[in-house]
Amino acid sequence: MSETAAQTGSLESFGLFIDGQRVDAASGKTFESTNPYTGRPWAVLADGGPEDVDRAVASARAAFEGEWGQMSGFGRAAVLRDVATAITENAERLALLEVRDSGKLMREMRGQLQGLGVWYSYFSGLADKLEGKTVPAISPSTYFGYTLREPVGVVGAITPWNSPLLLLTFKLAPLLAAGCTCVVKPSEHAPASTVAFAEVLHEAGLPAGVLNVVTGWDRSTGEALASHTGVDKVAFTGSTATGAAVAKAAVANINKVTLELGGKSPQVVFPDADLDAAANGLVAGVFAATGQTCMAGSRLIVHESVKDELIAKVAARAEEIVQGDPTEADTEMGPVANRPQYEKVIGYLDGAREEGWTIAAGGGANEELGGLFVRPTVVVAAPEATIAREEVFGPVLTAYTFTDEEEAVRLANDTPYGLAGAVWTKDVHRAHRVAAAIKAGTVWINAYRVVAPNMPFGGFGMSGIGRENGSQAVDEYLENKSVFVELTGGTRDPFKLG
Ligand code: NAD
Repeated sequence: MSETAAQTGSLESFGLFIDGQRVDAASGKTFESTNPYTGRPWAVLADGGPEDVDRAVASARAAFEGEWGQMSGFGRAAVLRDVATAITENAERLALLEVRDSGKLMREMRGQLQGLGVWYSYFSGLADKLEGKTVPAISPSTYFGYTLREPVGVVGAITPWNSPLLLLTFKLAPLLAAGCTCVVKPSEHAPASTVAFAEVLHEAGLPAGVLNVVTGWDRSTGEALASHTGVDKVAFTGSTATGAAVAKAAVANINKVTLELGGKSPQVVFPDADLDAAANGLVAGVFAATGQTCMAGSRLIVHESVKDELIAKVAARAEEIVQGDPTEADTEMGPVANRPQYEKVIGYLDGAREEGWTIAAGGGANEELGGLFVRPTVVVAAPEATIAREEVFGPVLTAYTFTDEEEAVRLANDTPYGLAGAVWTKDVHRAHRVAAAIKAGTVWINAYRVVAPNMPFGGFGMSGIGRENGSQAVDEYLENKSVFVELTGGTRDPFKLG
């Protein structure tokens, strides 16, 4: 343990969670999690390494081959319903852990955790409906076929620091419904809530070994999980660069991969839009959660005729945003979640100034509050600006204009990403036309930042591979098996296929 932790003695302590128990790292090492609002460490975590990943994978394998793997879909559905109830009962406590770890607002995280149980009840409804097909044979009297849907096995889940439990749930609820087991490696910047969450699920009836948590300070812990030969699938949420490394490691073992990666999502505003609603949607899209969301609507593509009016509205609202203590009910924006991320955001803002773009609101650190606070920022730029092209992952909106629908769509799609986007218009024909033309996994019409357990979520292009949420999310954790049944009892030509 570091000197700071030893001196304060008041830090909350979290171990690894393996085989239904809190345990220390094999090395005995720990690391601290810092509260980005206070700037002080608040928790001590076990610094798990490859040896701990081995233990966790072995436990997940034993659970898969044991009680959980043998349980019927009806049994898993019942456990998932109990899990949903337990999450709701523990929502306040779990939300507070996330706030301390990441500086996100209590008013957001309380709602997020209270709503999380719905994912488990939704997927509980699918756990007992994993049916295959009967398939008519090509030669009807000789054989027929049917398919079985079997769980993939042990899933290695790797999650980022923004909304750790929501993003874990996008994986966990469907994989449990499918009958898989899991080892999760949360981000070193926000690890505590995942350990507490695993305990809540275990106490609610999830058998030992079904969900294991290995926290760790450096990337070797995640690398050990992504490349582990005892894992059957890797489900990753994080940056595009890390996602590529994780996919490479997983594919080397011919493992399946789901990737939920970064974004640079457009909000296209036509001149007939309700500009007050659009301004509100822009604030929700890029200033909520301090802009640290994969789906942040960070590019405003606005018709030139309403540009000044809309930017003035958003800039005025940005200047009014109440920044401060994330646990206070009236705070609207907390700090950036950690120092490396803060420096990255400030670097992008300095770069935008150097490139000569106009700052319409904010533009840098909030000097009054200090710490990791960045002022909500609106940059008026052009499509080629660095800040218009790269993911900032902070409270920064970059605006530029279009003149007709074709140009709007072209600019919206002028990005390697494709996670989300929005179109703001009162014209119903245009709304659906543009929604269809935007190359992204989710498009909102006159809205922003809505997710639901029953709606698929994921990215086109560099934003990822696969989909989470929605009924088909279970398929990501199932193998299809084809069974042929010979009907004649006769002997077939051994040298002929079929
Ligand atoms: P990150 O890529 O730095 O880290 C994500 C996770 O990967 C962490 O747990 C980290 O410890 C681990 N990791 C790092 N290097 C690794 C390696 N070589 N092998 C295995 N694991 C490794 O991302 P972050 O900074 O925690 O999160 C921010 C990013 O996540 C943003 O780009 C954001 O857009 C993205 N994100 C995407 C979604 C989505 O659903 N598409 C949701 C939230 C965040």
